Amino acid sequence: MAGVYVHIPFCKSRCIYCDFFSTTSLEERTRYVNALCKEIEARRDYLHTSKQNGKVSIDTIYFGGGTPTQLSADDIKNVMECLHRIYDVSREAEITIEGNPDDLNRRMLDNLLKVGFNRLSMGIQTFSDERLRFLCRRHTAEAAAHAVEEAKRAGFGNISIDLMYGFPNETLSEWENDVSVAIGLGIQHISAYSLMYEEGTALYRMREEGKVEEVDEELSLSMYEMLMDKLEDAGFEHYEISNFSRPGFRSRHNSSYWNGIPYIGVGAAAHSFDGKSRQWNPSSLSCYITGMEGGTLSVEKEELSEWQRYDECIMTGLRTSDGVNLDALRQMFGNERLRYCMDCAEKYIHDGLLEIISSPYSLRLTRKGIFVSDSIMAELMSDED
Ligand code: SF4
Repeated sequence: MAGVYVHIPFCKSRCIYCDFFSTTSLEERTRYVNALCKEIEARRDYLHTSKQNGKVSIDTIYFGGGTPTQLSADDIKNVMECLHRIYDVSREAEITIEGNPDDLNRRMLDNLLKVGFNRLSMGIQTFSDERLRFLCRRHTAEAAAHAVEEAKRAGFGNISIDLMYGFPNETLSEWENDVSVAIGLGIQHISAYSLMYEEGTALYRMREEGKVEEVDEELSLSMYEMLMDKLEDAGFEHYEISNFSRPGFRSRHNSSYWNGIPYIGVGAAAHSFDGKSRQWNPSSLSCYITGMEGGTLSVEKEELSEWQRYDECIMTGLRTSDGVNLDALRQMFGNERLRYCMDCAEKYIHDGLLEIISSPYSLRLTRKGIFVSDSIMAELMSDED
């Protein structure tokens, strides 16, 4: 089955590291939601997957941002009702919303459950107030822990949090403390990323001006290793390079990206994939809203060549603990590309960085290989268009 991603590009304030498309001008929220509903209706036939009663069946919905919880309860409800009108949403669908801890009061949480969300993804990042202030996040560590408890009390049984490590001057034991606090929350899923200095962000400028210094690579690797050890000891499965879950709680929506399953993304800057091509909406609120209102939205599209699809398959597959399914690779791209992949993989298998598993027949990174995953992926990819 397929999934729908809904982009909500509103944030109350900007965090210094963020390069996602979002705006702090909140006045256009309801106009934006109306445009979203128009797009959902207009593109009802984008996905060519199975149908039920004339409607395309979907089994994941993901509201991401931005900060989806910056929408009013009525606006969120309107988008959900529209999705249910257009799609056959499976009874067991995973329906996720991203939220910031300071928006998640009991009333908001009850409303989210009422309109059908069953998974909450919270942008916590760290349990240090000092580091939260550095990032310009709006919440405190205490507010984050409180929001998780409220969400559990309200009835959310599938909660994910985002964490970051590798802050300037952060020590290994400070990061270990963050991981311990996260484990103690009794949540089902953790995504953890090293702090990135993306061009165009305030954080990037701070580094260029010498105001902050990036953590050194050796410490960053130790932080990642400690994260893996601690979460695995606590019973989490390390199922993707940056993602850990309790058994049975992998993110189904994100897993379908990594497995090459088609999805539609609606909203400004949202990307869609139909199995053969990608397309994306303009990264401008006004272009998106006026384009949808006037029926003139111009999208960009890229047809993927077979080699590009092969590259994506390698890149996304190797990120996961299941690895690249080699039988599926052969079926999709033929023996020649399978041979290309295995020829490139040979030296890494020999060095203990990649391994073959037999059931299903797959190629995956070993624990040692995870630390040099970027260079292994680059080596196995084709470099061709
Ligand atoms: S809340 Fe999220 S999307 Fe908004 S600025 Fe911060 S990191 Fe970016």
